[in-house]
Formats: sequence, C-alpha cells, structure tokens
Amino acid sequence: MSSETKGISPSPYTGFHLQPINGQWRPGKATKVLRDTNPYNGEVLAEIQQASRDDMEEAHSGAARAYPGWAALLPGERAGVMRRAVQVMERRREEIVSWLIKEAGSTRIKANLEWEAVHAVMLEATTLPYLVEGRILPSDVPGKESRMYRKPVGVVGVISPWNWPMQLSARSIAPALAVGNAVVVKPASDTPVTGGLLLAKIFEEAGLPPGVMSVTVGAGSEIGDAFVTHPVSRVISFTGSTPVGRSIARLAAEGPILKRLELELGGNGPFVVLEDADLDRATEAAVFGKFLHQGQTCMSINRFIIDDSLYDSFLERFAERVRQLKFGNPEESDTMIGPIINQSQLNGLRQRIQEAVSSGAKQVVGGEAQGLVLPPHVFAGVTNQMSVARTESFGPIAPFLRASNEQEALSIANDTDLGLAAAVFTSDVERGLRFALELETGMAHVNDQPVNDLPYSPFGGEKNSGIGRFNGSWAVSAFTTDRWVSVQHKARKYVFNANVWAGPGAGG
Ligand code: NAD
Repeated sequence: MSSETKGISPSPYTGFHLQPINGQWRPGKATKVLRDTNPYNGEVLAEIQQASRDDMEEAHSGAARAYPGWAALLPGERAGVMRRAVQVMERRREEIVSWLIKEAGSTRIKANLEWEAVHAVMLEATTLPYLVEGRILPSDVPGKESRMYRKPVGVVGVISPWNWPMQLSARSIAPALAVGNAVVVKPASDTPVTGGLLLAKIFEEAGLPPGVMSVTVGAGSEIGDAFVTHPVSRVISFTGSTPVGRSIARLAAEGPILKRLELELGGNGPFVVLEDADLDRATEAAVFGKFLHQGQTCMSINRFIIDDSLYDSFLERFAERVRQLKFGNPEESDTMIGPIINQSQLNGLRQRIQEAVSSGAKQVVGGEAQGLVLPPHVFAGVTNQMSVARTESFGPIAPFLRASNEQEALSIANDTDLGLAAAVFTSDVERGLRFALELETGMAHVNDQPVNDLPYSPFGGEKNSGIGRFNGSWAVSAFTTDRWVSVQHKARKYVFNANVWAGPGAGG
C-alpha cells in the first residue's frame, strides 16, 4: 500500500545532508564531509557536510533564545507536542525501522525493539510536564515562608553513541524537552540520522518550535570538547564509552561554567547461573541477552559465570542453540546477528578473539567474518583475569567462566570496575533477590537476561558505568534544578553579638 492510499503525507525523511541548526535545515560549515553508510552493504545513505565550531555556537545561542518561550508554555502544550511526536512515530513506523536497519546495522528484530523503546520513552514524556512540581518547605525562622521551585535547567547538550542511537538520544531529548528545556544534540558519526536528524524531523512534524532542538553532526574528537564546554548548556547528557565519559567529566569541570553530568557508560554484564537454575529458561535468556544487536549493547552479557555442577551441560545447550542462530542480512526477519557497525570495531573484535585463544581459552563456536558480519563466538575455560572477561566485548563473543559455588560466583561477578546490568538464574527467588542485591550494579534481574529498559524504572550504572539515572521521575530530576526561594514576611533579628542567640537559619 502506498503512503498516499493510507492517507499518510509524503515522507519527510529525506534531505539528511542538512542539519537543523537554530531553526533552519542547512549544511554544516566545516569543510569535512561525513559519508553515512549502510554497514551491511556499503550503500551511501547521506553525505553530510559537518558542523563547525561556528555552527555549534549558533545552535547553542539559538537554543538559549528559544528556551524561555518553550519553557513558558503550559504543561499541556508541551505534552501536546510529545503526544503528536508519538503519533508521528506510529504513522511512520516502517520508515523509522528501515532507517534503524540500514544505518545502524540493526537486525529487523532489534530495529523493532528500538522503535518500541523510543515510542515508550516519548509516551512517558507526555506525562513529565506534570511532574515538575515545587514544594512549601518547613521553616524554623519566625516569619519566613520557604519554598522550593523546580525549573528546567535551560539548555541540555546530548551526546549519544551508535549502538541504539535513536533510543539513547530520545531518552535524553524527550524528557529534557518535556520539562521545558531546549536541546543541542551531537549524534555519533556512524549514526547521524537515527541518532539525531530523524528525531529532529519527528519533533518538527509534531510542532516543536524552531530552534528548540538543534543537531550538530561531527566527530567527537573534533567538535566534542567545544560542545561539552560551551557556556550555554547546563547539563551534558552523555551515553558512550567509559574513557570518553571520563574525559567529558574532566572537561565539564574545567570549562568556563561547571556542568552537571549524566553519564551512561560501558558495562561488563555478568550472567550468573546457580546450581538450581532452570536450564531451558536460562539458555533462551542467555542467547538473547548475548547476541541481540550482535552484542553491541551496553547491557549485553559480557561474562557467563556458571556453577561448576552444571557448567558442561549448560555450555553444551548454549553452544547448540548458538549454532542455530541465523547471521547475515539484517533485513530478514529471523536474522539474529547482523553487521558490526564499522571496520575498526570489527578489527578490535578479531583482536579480542585472538587474545582469548592465545591466553588459553577454548573456542567452542566461531567462524570467519563475511564483510562486517562476525558469526557468534563462544569460549570455554575463560578466567576473570583474561582480557576477554576483564573488558567490554561489545560484539558477539560469549566467554564462559566457572564458579565453584554461589559465593565465588558473586565475587567473580563483582570483580570488575564496571557495574551496569547483571542477571542471575536460580529456582529459589529469595536466593536470587539476595544475590541481586549483593551485585555492585545499577540494575540486576532475577531469572531474566540483563538487556532491560522500562520507561518508569531507574536506568543507570555504578562504579565506572556512570553517574545518574534515566527514565520517569529520575529524568525529571536530571533535567531540572531545584531553587530555594524564601520570603521574610516579618522583620528578622540578626546576630551582631556572639553572646546573644538570635535564632537558627543564617549559617552557611
Ligand atoms: P564513544 O564513547 O566512542 O562515543 C559516544 C559519543 O561520544 C559519540 O557521539 C562520539 O562522537 C562522542 N565523542 C567521542 N569523543 C568525544 C569527545 N572527546 N568529546 C565529546 N564527545 C565525544 O562510544 P561508542 O563507541 O559510540 O559507543 C559504545 C560505548 O557506549 C560502549 O562502551 C557502551 O557500553 C557504551 N554505551 C553505554 C550505554 C549506557 O546506557 N550505559 C548505552 C549504550 C552504549
């Protein structure tokens, strides 16, 4: 059925060589051109003249000008834009899914899941304008009325990665806008469309006023520092790797204005199977939690920590199931493993595989890459000291570690500087809950795999996996600031002599 017969207006999802900067779609002013390509077949999807520092300046000053008018709208008016954005998402689902497949190398399975996640985050954002509330506070000072006002921070800078580009941008952009901020977005160079330009089109169609959302396309190494230190933005919401997150934290402290940070960084997810686990359920969960999106998810399982008593039988089932996984063309509805995002990521994964073999791990499943498609790899006999276990794979590599009992499983799981998501399988739910609470991660799931994100649950990491939480009321806190305003109704006594106590409240 054509879009006209369905009553849908012609697709606005063209012209992605332009960027929305300060309310106008135009080319960037840098001389470099970014070639946005399909990682599966190399097709060039867009050639984008990148944003320069001048463009960034314009995006930020435009956002600063647009912000007060947007913030002053009634909550219902901002909610209305969010509601229309949800409707656009629904009307244009197929086009959006198709961009997620061709630009991000998403399998059709993952692209649909990502569409669902963005849709959920936008739906949730329709409620957030009503959660920006103040409070009347108690006061021990006679005659003082004390209030807390919650205000948007002003301008939020959003930097996102390439793996779930639309969701990881949308989960900052939608709530930040909903509570009254303007945003400037810098998507990853591999996913300029799904990480930013497509969302700008959706919000534009939904009626977001010009200039409230700008997108600057360019390499983090080139415009990243200036983006992070720009004096206009008050919060930088960054999702990406731990090393870049650390460098952003340093910059945010050193720039002309101190920034608040939301950092969602790397993971090293343990998947623990205790000796009383249901192996059928654990196997299905394990395969999904490892290989969804080729393992390129921050919450992906990075280490399988299996009780000694069922290590061999679980490994055998898992490997058998993995051998049946279809890899290749991401367009096909039953392909589980599509392409790695780019050649340099693939090279890194090949190196990891070689290191695993040379450090003594036994390859149980493997195969050569075809183009950027790397078949699933399973390694047995891995220890927590090997680099394949110590660092984040971000690819279809499954290392199996042995634990002699629950206590050892827990100490292996926690023996990492990262702490994002984890999972534990046991038939004793109370035991699973106890175990989950001992895990040093921001998120832990009993009898499920770790790749979970629900719009009303706190999403975020401990240790080097980040600072801050997304979703629901946590997102409202992230993108607003609390201001204390008091009114002294009656003349107050001040202290002018240390021997005369004039009352509390004047310290600091
Ligand atoms: P990355 O850190 O290389 O890049 C992320 C973003 O930062 C990109 O837009 C990039 O252009 C930008 N960037 C790079 N250098 C910069 C600089 N100096 N200043 C400012 N911006 C800069 O990460 P990636 O390779 O795109 O993504 C993979 C990583 O992201 C993995 O470690 C993964 O675990 C992590 N991740 C975390 C979450 C989470 O929610 N915790 C979600 C997805 C991905």
